[in-house]
Amino acid sequence: MSTTPSSSSAPKTHAQRALEKLGLVRDIDFALHLPLRYEDETHITSLRDARHGETVQIEAVVTSSEIQFKGKRQLVVTVLDGAEECTLRFFNFYPSHQRALAVGERLRIRGEIKKSLLGWSMLHPTFKAAGGELAQVLTAVYPTTAGLPQGYIRKAVWGGLLRASQRGELSETAPISHLPSLADSLELLHHPTPDVSVVELEDQSHPAWQRLKAEELLAQQLSQLQARRERAKMRAEALPLNPMGKHLMGKGLHDGGLVQALLAVLPFKPTSAQTRVQREIAADLVQSKPMNRLLQGDVGSGKTVVAALAAAQCIEAGFQCALMVPTEILAQQHFAKLVGWLEPLLAARDLSVAWLSGTQKAKERREMLAKIESGEAALVVGTHAIIQSKVTFAKLALVVVDEQHRFGVAQRLALKEKTQGDMYPHLLMMSATPIPRTLAMSYYADLDVSTIDELPPGRTPIVTKIVAMSKRDEVVRRIVDQLKAGRQVYWVCPLIEESEAVDLVNATETHEALQAALAVALPTAKVELLHSKIVTTEKKAIMQAFEKNEVQVLVSTTVIEVGVDVPNATLMVIEHAERFGLAQLHQLRGRVGRGLAASACVLLYATNESGRLGDAAKARLKAMVDTTDGFEIARRDLDIRGPGEFLGARQSGAQMLRFADLSQETDQAWLRWAQATAPTLLDTQQDVAVRHMERWLPSGTAFMGA
Ligand code: ADP
Ligand code: MG
Repeated sequence: MSTTPSSSSAPKTHAQRALEKLGLVRDIDFALHLPLRYEDETHITSLRDARHGETVQIEAVVTSSEIQFKGKRQLVVTVLDGAEECTLRFFNFYPSHQRALAVGERLRIRGEIKKSLLGWSMLHPTFKAAGGELAQVLTAVYPTTAGLPQGYIRKAVWGGLLRASQRGELSETAPISHLPSLADSLELLHHPTPDVSVVELEDQSHPAWQRLKAEELLAQQLSQLQARRERAKMRAEALPLNPMGKHLMGKGLHDGGLVQALLAVLPFKPTSAQTRVQREIAADLVQSKPMNRLLQGDVGSGKTVVAALAAAQCIEAGFQCALMVPTEILAQQHFAKLVGWLEPLLAARDLSVAWLSGTQKAKERREMLAKIESGEAALVVGTHAIIQSKVTFAKLALVVVDEQHRFGVAQRLALKEKTQGDMYPHLLMMSATPIPRTLAMSYYADLDVSTIDELPPGRTPIVTKIVAMSKRDEVVRRIVDQLKAGRQVYWVCPLIEESEAVDLVNATETHEALQAALAVALPTAKVELLHSKIVTTEKKAIMQAFEKNEVQVLVSTTVIEVGVDVPNATLMVIEHAERFGLAQLHQLRGRVGRGLAASACVLLYATNESGRLGDAAKARLKAMVDTTDGFEIARRDLDIRGPGEFLGARQSGAQMLRFADLSQETDQAWLRWAQATAPTLLDTQQDVAVRHMERWLPSGTAFMGA
């Protein structure tokens, strides 16, 4: 059996495709595909010594075998080992099972054993005829995927390990003297001898595992260091503040002309956190190397104005700034706000603001493209329409990406193509879902981070309540109270991925039900429905009506997820809250609590058929009630989902850490070691460093963040 892709053009088999899906292509990929757990078939446990809940291998003789119909058809077999009996139960079975399990057969049986008042039992154990040699090593069980049987992947992995080892691909690259070598570690992890502690293998504390984690972290840090050094070689436009009056520079970084003018027209005074991050960004922008900065700040912390100030600095220096946002509604909101602030200032300089979106009319779009190409549009706001090939900038120097986690790596890279020659744009990414520190250190070592850790003054904390769907009527009463007080309400319906049609039905029904309920209680209230199938112009009209308080209740699918800013809205109802992710719930809740009035968020949940709520869903709802702090929410989210999903959901197309687990202190220590080791290795033994990275990174991929 060949497990590496053959050089011939023979079509790939199903199994080969399944292996590729797991990232298994090169021999070394197979060698680094490590077992999930182990089965100990090296010894036989006698029933007398068995313990409840253990996975054991016993040897026993069949004393009875019959098909029973207790609720469900099942094969029930009794076996005897010494004086102890055990009942085996099979719900799926074939005549061949019955033959092999005939009375009098002596069998070797493996499975999880349970003890109850009725004695020992096993459900669906594996079995084979007794006798034959016992395994010498623990049997590895590998992570696999549909259509790839354990036996197949096991052979493929062992084959890859053998070839990689024979070709010397496992030679040492990471300078760690007090741990077993990579070759020995892999041999041990794939074929552990019975004297190795299964516990140490399975909790990954074994030195062989430590070697793998350390190597992986070193590869990650090397790859990020390389990315950072490459970036340092790139050039970007230096964007001096107030180029006309450089003499002011010493008096504080925000003394620029347009920046100053913008500050003067803002309807509020920036918080000290906003001023601090603005200075951090300004200090990057004056450099002639590209900024790569993440601006994180909770929902409502006021990131937009910081972006506007950076844009002002860029424009003042004579360049263009692009602001990319994930949804059209958000694009329009930003547009409205930034236009309100900046347009009069730009007009005085014969400049304008342009916006781009996928659903724009052709004529309008042509006009916008012309303004962008001529340089008249100093600020360009839009959705991913901005990165399309037809868009040509005259002199782009700064790109701001809002809600950065909603864009993939590829989309951000495409933005870089928009500058001229070998110049790169400065990049400012904004996010309301912060990355916990341990992850930031590891995954985003190549990224500078600014944090807004303070909300604008006068915000009242949002009270969050969990309410069962069966008590919907109470919620309607709450809505009526808010409306009578002159407030507005959001009602969000969930997105069910498989079926947009079902979403619409749900949202439409909710809309109608609310309309009916309010028609009685408060006939003047207007309820509108917003969902993805409504045409853009109408969406815009509905949003504007809501902003002007001509509509009081906005029922919506998750199209309002980010960015909507209506301070008079004080109640957020989220239907089927158990189906939303934690970050998403937090984002949605952030739509209220933007004004001076007290706000509330109601999480309506439904239980499954057996009246229960899943553990993860429960933990998410509890986190929402416990805290409104975005950083704490992010920490809980990470706890609930683990780093793979937490980060994977934020950024597609990047390699995650597979083995190192940064919630563990030992692994954090390895991270610090890797951070200290990477520069020396890259400087003194570049060929070894490159070999090390190639081992861990399939060609053409990069670690996340790099
Ligand atoms: P986010 O960080 O979620 O993008 P926004 O930039 O939308 O937050 O700001 C939320 C609201 O707070 C907006 O209405 C904005 O105008 C307002 N705001 C921003 N900064 C301040 C401030 N320093 N004082 C008062 N209000 C502010
Ligand atoms: Mg925002």
